[in-house]
Amino acid sequence: SQARTFFVGGNFKMNGSKKSIHEIIERLNNTKLPENVEVVIAPPAPYLQQAVTENKQKTVYVSAQNSFDKASGAYTGEVSVEALKDLGVPYVILGHSERRTINKEDDAFIASKTKFALDQGLKVILCIGETLEEKQANITLDVVKRQLQAVVDVVSDWTNIVVAYEPVWAIGTGLAATPSDAQDVHKQIRDFLATVIGKDQAEKVRILYGGSVNGKNAVEFRDKADVDGFLVGGASLKPEFVDIINSRN
Ligand code: PEP
Repeated sequence: SQARTFFVGGNFKMNGSKKSIHEIIERLNNTKLPENVEVVIAPPAPYLQQAVTENKQKTVYVSAQNSFDKASGAYTGEVSVEALKDLGVPYVILGHSERRTINKEDDAFIASKTKFALDQGLKVILCIGETLEEKQANITLDVVKRQLQAVVDVVSDWTNIVVAYEPVWAIGTGLAATPSDAQDVHKQIRDFLATVIGKDQAEKVRILYGGSVNGKNAVEFRDKADVDGFLVGGASLKPEFVDIINSRN
């Protein structure tokens, strides 16, 4: 929808070096980006400061890939929201399927981290999505509703949440959801949100699609009313990330 600002996020995951991250940011700095697209790049935590310092584009923002739900203290290895704010990092990705699976993060923990980050003034890219097994069992909607409800239970103001629908079977597989399947799920997500946080708020929430988006297939989602942007993994490290940013213009 035109009312919602198109959003393209790049999740670098655990990739990159000082040099490669410098090159990615220089490429963005040296490109004329559309003014009506919000771009967010999420480098690994050790490179957040570098990204904030090197980014010169006013429509590009930096995101962390994770944060914790306690202010500070004896939490070895965790990423503090306060430190992110100190660095000038406005966004954090929470609930990514890799963290749900590999790090065994459950819905309640992700909701708690979401609430904590929002309360401290960060914006949250909240990832949800079903596994292949769940899709085959026809429980996609039950899964995404359960994942969202955990956050609804603790957060009433969704202004600073961007939802990323990322079917797990589409992440890193080269097998993106079809635009019409993505639109169907996005519409049902928005309808569900309308019932739990109200229609006004639900209309404003950006719902991103994530899962094997690339410079070629991004344009195919153009006319999908409830696809408000993308969360991009692999292709965000490559020059084609700019094509994805430009896919609506
Ligand atoms: C992701 O991990 O958020 C993602 C969408 O990855 P990819 O684009 O590589 O499928």
